Amino acid sequence: MAADVKHYAMFIDGKHVDAAEVDEIRDPATEEVVATIARGSVEHADAAVAAARAAFESGSWSKMAPADRSAVLVKIADRMGQELDELVELEIHANGATVRQATGFHIGYAPTHFLYFAELAATYQWEQQVGTQAYPTMSTNIIRHEPLGVCAAIVPWNFPLLLGIWKVGPALAAGNSVVIKPDEKTPLTLLRLCEIAKECGLPDGVLNLVTGPGPTVGARLAEHPDVDKVAFTGSTPVGREIMRLASATVKKVSLELGGKGAQVLLDDADLDVAIDGALFGCMLYSGQICESGTRLLVPEDMYDLVVDRLVDRASALKIGDTTDFDTDVGPVISARQRDRVLSFLDSARSDGAKVVLGGGAPQGAAFEKGYWVEPTIVTEVTNDMEIAREEIFGPVLCVLRYTDEADAVRQANDSQYGLSAGVWSTDYERAVEIADQLRAGTVWINNWHQIDPALPFGGYKQSGLGRELGPHALDEYTETKHVHIDLTQKVERHIFGALLSEPPH
Ligand code: NAD
Repeated sequence: MAADVKHYAMFIDGKHVDAAEVDEIRDPATEEVVATIARGSVEHADAAVAAARAAFESGSWSKMAPADRSAVLVKIADRMGQELDELVELEIHANGATVRQATGFHIGYAPTHFLYFAELAATYQWEQQVGTQAYPTMSTNIIRHEPLGVCAAIVPWNFPLLLGIWKVGPALAAGNSVVIKPDEKTPLTLLRLCEIAKECGLPDGVLNLVTGPGPTVGARLAEHPDVDKVAFTGSTPVGREIMRLASATVKKVSLELGGKGAQVLLDDADLDVAIDGALFGCMLYSGQICESGTRLLVPEDMYDLVVDRLVDRASALKIGDTTDFDTDVGPVISARQRDRVLSFLDSARSDGAKVVLGGGAPQGAAFEKGYWVEPTIVTEVTNDMEIAREEIFGPVLCVLRYTDEADAVRQANDSQYGLSAGVWSTDYERAVEIADQLRAGTVWINNWHQIDPALPFGGYKQSGLGRELGPHALDEYTETKHVHIDLTQKVERHIFGALLSEPPH
């Protein structure tokens, strides 16, 4: 470990809080320890929830006028924009994103996505007066959206800041308090968000961050009786566990889980667009994106041509130094993830699939350290193979054949997941017809990874529960209250006669 490795603490009630134990943060490209972070415990989780609850009850944020909340959140978004380079630096050395991808996606998206929720705080219809109702008795009514209370945000390592913001943004916009639990490997950008938020005027206790292992600290937040909602992004098995833990107190849950996105290449596709697009859809951030398009479905009679062109283009991908703007592909997150990806490739080979490009760790001095998997293309894949069914989370594109459109749709939908899908075609009408039949929360036509804060994102089937982003994301962080104001006044006109046949006098 280098002598100048910086240590970071948690953030609870507006203060840095350290712990006796630490976790090391290693750069996945070099295996070097780049920082250490306090390893929080269940007690820290409890302290963070208590601080969040006290802040919520104080009304300092929860009762602030939405326009004033919006102004604070806009300041936070602006500060994130100003600190983009520093945030990129933190990101690439913790999760192995390349500097180009981190600047464009991982960190680049973050301030604008936060700004969307900052502005929504001012324009959302918090309260609506419903006109006079005549039945069953005269009344006027108010529909009011109120914050839930304390929300827990459990976030994975692939896009920590962005996926954190998808939860923290709407939660804060709605007036909630939040406890973030990042992955042990990637807490630093979210920690900086907490500090920035305080510097921009967010009251203490409204935004807290605790670290530590998922099965203890994360699980405590999911089951905590004083947490009103848990929002989670990560693997489907952990999502199931979180739902189970949350059920004890019937807390609200939103889940954004795994995917096995199908890319349907139609016979009229522009192959220049579709080949580059299919690789972009699958290989960006070494395939470690839940909505990656990992299964490419190709018409039988175009199969060999498409595979040749994929191999040709993917061979040109430059793998290596994540700090170099010319690098296309970086490492995977950990040795465990690398071994997991390689073992899926072994299983594909024994199932009869062929690895026609990559398939191992790249060779050479540059790759002696770090967790590397070459961009890999697997052919002769059928949809019943493990490699086509499980989320691999590595730079691995599976190419499958289909006979006709109905077969393509059937195979695309034959998955426990339903997060993303896509169609490559020059005929928009035909592509939309296919999109209508795909059971996925997002369908991209002639593109991939297009995520807009104003448009909903989430999964069908076992890819999740609820939607993040878009105006309705705020609904997921509010309770809806109906206030009924009776206008009948006189007792004899009241509905009480349904029970009491005798008038009171
Ligand atoms: P994970 O689901 O184990 O971890 C995600 C987050 O949940 C982390 O913050 C972790 O600390 C926390 N966590 C873990 N166990 C928990 C528990 N019992 N209760 C509460 N919180 C808990 O994901 P992983 O181990 O980092 O990756 C494993 C696989 O999950 C990957 O290979 C990939 O297939 C998938 N994954 C999906 C996404 C996604 O964006 N959908 C992100 C990361 C990983």
